[in-house]
Amino acid sequence: MTAHAFTTLFVFALTASVLLQMWLAQRHINHVRRHRSAVPDEFAAEITLLSHQRAADYTVAKTRFGMLATIWDAMLLAAFTLGGGIAWLSNLASDWFGPGILAGVTMIALLAVANTVLTLPFSWISTFRIEAAFGFNQTTPATFMADLVKTSLIAAAIGLPLIAVVLWLMDAMGDVWWLWVWATWVGFSLLLMWVFPTWIAPLFNKFEPLPDEGLRTRIEALLTRCGFRAGGIFMMDGSKRSSHGNAYFTGLGAKKRIVFFDTLLKQLNGDEIEAVLAHELGHFKRRHIVKRLAWTFLLMLGMLWLLGQLKTRPWFYEGLGVQTPTTAAALVLFFLVLPVFTFLFGPIGSMLSRKHEYEADAYAAEQASSRDLIHALVKLYRDNAATLTPDPLHSLFYDSHPPASLRIAALKRLG
Ligand SMILES: [Zn+2]
Repeated sequence: MTAHAFTTLFVFALTASVLLQMWLAQRHINHVRRHRSAVPDEFAAEITLLSHQRAADYTVAKTRFGMLATIWDAMLLAAFTLGGGIAWLSNLASDWFGPGILAGVTMIALLAVANTVLTLPFSWISTFRIEAAFGFNQTTPATFMADLVKTSLIAAAIGLPLIAVVLWLMDAMGDVWWLWVWATWVGFSLLLMWVFPTWIAPLFNKFEPLPDEGLRTRIEALLTRCGFRAGGIFMMDGSKRSSHGNAYFTGLGAKKRIVFFDTLLKQLNGDEIEAVLAHELGHFKRRHIVKRLAWTFLLMLGMLWLLGQLKTRPWFYEGLGVQTPTTAAALVLFFLVLPVFTFLFGPIGSMLSRKHEYEADAYAAEQASSRDLIHALVKLYRDNAATLTPDPLHSLFYDSHPPASLRIAALKRLG
């Protein structure tokens, strides 16, 4: 491969992936608009035309804004690579510190800062214009900025030492450095999952034991019935930022926590909360979490091996706008550019995820009630203004959850 051929391949892949994303987004917008005037029959009893139209408008606004963000991200990627951004930051860092790990870590930190600043307007507009226009935003500019500062400090405190270790391993461990980096990364990810609920999450939100005594007793009964050991059931002040409701599991092993957003507890009644929790437990019982983790680790191993092959080829750097190869440049170029080439594999991940959702729903139907889960889902679709009529191809490509009508039809068959 020559540098020139690789540049051509990269430009072609980037253009093709942007065009494909635009086409899918436009299809989605058209489809949602075409179905805006009537609530689908199976939801007509529970969802008003007004809510349905609000969901359509919200979906169109978000998708259209997403198209702008896609174009902006592609322009930034081109500027960082072919436009010479990474090469410039790399030279700047080695002027300051000479060649080596310190220069490498500095270049990556500068790149991260540049990327954060350049994409900030998009998260600002998404929060204070789009989410606010549909009544979902609860965050203030002060909380938004405090979140940004906290996230950056945590990312620096955790990420910079990790990057330093990775760069050192890449230089010091010969041809099989990628195995060492992989082992380090796996250990580090597990450690992070372990400490996240107790050390990191409380920096952003308040967690308190579920206050409702009756609900707690019910949930504990469900956990016993399903043979699940949890390190606590908590309520989180999600309403501090958004009125979208949610529930999730976090942590590893005996430290696993169940967290309900206060917003979700307000939206659903006891039966519905139990059904939603049974669905989440289904993900554990059907080993989805472990499988997903194993897949992520395996994919990472493959990616690092591939980086091991590319790291020694001059065309890889030169083809992406970097004339002086460095270890840090190899690392960032690879992980910035990889998604352009793997974009077409996205639907496989979405398909597996939707399969898991059906399995978790089936588990919830066994352990709780399919009827309660249907009620909960309909309320959540309505209150979150999630569209009931996604474009089928867009959904096939991106959606981690099955479309509402298919999911509820499957639950009805189980009931
Ligand atoms: Zn799920």
